[in-house]
Amino acid sequence: MTTYRIAVISGDNVGPEVVAEGVKCLDGVASVTDLRFAYTTFPWGAGHYREHGEVMPEDGLELVKGFDAILLGAVGDPYRVPDKIIFARGVVQRIRRGFNQYVNLRPCRLLPGVATPLRGEKDVDLVVVRENTEGEYAWMGGRHYQDTPDELATQVSIFTRRGIERVCRYAFTLARQRNKKRLVTSVTKSNALHYSMVLWDDVFEQVAQDYPDIQTNKVYVDAMAMYLITRPETYDVIVTTNLFGDILSDEASAIQGSIGLAAGGNINPERSYPSMFEPIHGSAPDIAGRGIANPIGTIGAVQLMLEHLGEHAAAALVERGIADVLRAGAVRTPDLGGSATTAQMGDAVAARIRELAGRG
Ligand code: ATP
Repeated sequence: MTTYRIAVISGDNVGPEVVAEGVKCLDGVASVTDLRFAYTTFPWGAGHYREHGEVMPEDGLELVKGFDAILLGAVGDPYRVPDKIIFARGVVQRIRRGFNQYVNLRPCRLLPGVATPLRGEKDVDLVVVRENTEGEYAWMGGRHYQDTPDELATQVSIFTRRGIERVCRYAFTLARQRNKKRLVTSVTKSNALHYSMVLWDDVFEQVAQDYPDIQTNKVYVDAMAMYLITRPETYDVIVTTNLFGDILSDEASAIQGSIGLAAGGNINPERSYPSMFEPIHGSAPDIAGRGIANPIGTIGAVQLMLEHLGEHAAAALVERGIADVLRAGAVRTPDLGGSATTAQMGDAVAARIRELAGRG
């Protein structure tokens, strides 16, 4: 029997609604395997800020450092707390940096039974590997001469050889492990950003030398925004910067058919700290409290978590559970054209996980 300690940060709005379903599916896995999950909940986010004046406690990172993994819902409540407060003091950014989760992993696969806005049959199975701790989202810059006609702001991007190299290495290793097209595509903008992105290209090419069995490709981000729509089936692993990856992975989720389906992992590959898994959507305040959010992104995050923990058979159960429920089509949340609730969708996947293990 193996017990994993999971820190659960449900967050705000739909966060707790979808996380409850992720936990339900993990419990489904526990009921048919030797795995056990011990959850500890941390009530951080915009709600915590409104009550305590802080999004998470000062020593928050210390509190979750010893866990095996973190399951996150969504943090933010833009109707009541300005996003700039949440992001400046935020939970997500602090954990990503503090725990050196320098890879943001966002798989994109067309799921059975879910209509994609793309025309024609496409076999899309790609992963965006986004640099997660530096680049355009480095906390550097300032605002000067505020509220005067001379006001100016700087937002400095930081690109380090070490930072680029480690994320590129992760991408190449992943392409080998996936063993699909064995192709790593670097998304860059070195035709306009002559220092940072030229360094990115140089390091990418140097790392590529160590992986002669993997093909490479270099695409400018503006072209990539088009190609993701016109020929997404040609990609395998895409490695890119923090900002480009943020945008392109949202675009990739749209081609899956709903933002509610997409999952992401914030990975510390060295495992010196816990990694964090989340649906890629935000707190969706417009649909919160109605029980209609799609929980599949969060259940997919649970699958990524199990894979990261090395529990591949359990991860495969969750993956098949999701695919079978979507393929059958009887239980669908409104974003997929159905009328099922968040809880009904979670129930269906958890039940399918038990059935697949022969204990339905
Ligand atoms: P935040 O500021 O917290 O990121 P947001 O509203 O800007 O919130 P999202 O929360 O990602 O961004 O929501 C974008 C749109 O996608 C909204 O219309 C929302 O209702 C929808 N959406 C997000 N998550 C889901 C989900 N799980 N199921 C269905 N629709 C969703």
